[in-house]
Amino acid sequence: MESKKEFMECFLLEDSTKTPETTADASGREDCGRCATKGSPVSRKTVLLMLKSQLLEQASTGKYRFCATRDCSIVYFEEDGNRFFTQDDLRVRVGVKSSSDPIPLCYCFGFDESHLRDEISQTRSTSIPERVSRLIREGLCACDTRNPSGNCCLGEVNKAAKRIKEEVLDSRLNSRV
Ligand SMILES: [Zn+2]
Repeated sequence: MESKKEFMECFLLEDSTKTPETTADASGREDCGRCATKGSPVSRKTVLLMLKSQLLEQASTGKYRFCATRDCSIVYFEEDGNRFFTQDDLRVRVGVKSSSDPIPLCYCFGFDESHLRDEISQTRSTSIPERVSRLIREGLCACDTRNPSGNCCLGEVNKAAKRIKEEVLDSRLNSRV
């Protein structure tokens, strides 16, 4: 039953473009101290699974949020304190903050932007969102422990697929002129 529950939660997030509303703690900071954008709540377990080992003790307490702003160096910030962690503090590359390859999209099954780009350049389409979606439906994903945002990877996969399709189409149109 445990795994079924996790799967349901993950799958529910698939269609939602916004982060789930959680218990809004009036006293806690919701906005990133650097870019002032609202961060999404992330479990301390997820934070610990991403942090470099020498920093683990720095996150031994506290509630954290994930900052998804591309140009902001902060990945996690503390709700009720001043601690924060940047990309350099993590063991994984954060796809939404990367502008050069590899740009991870699905941390569970290892797809990055280059996989989408290659497939779309060759076939003008991509099977990757469906493949990821099928695996999620089978309950085989591990987004809450693999994805630094703690959220389901499929949202980012779909967003990137749409953007890259438009880019590829644009570049073909332009190259014909
Ligand atoms: Zn930020």
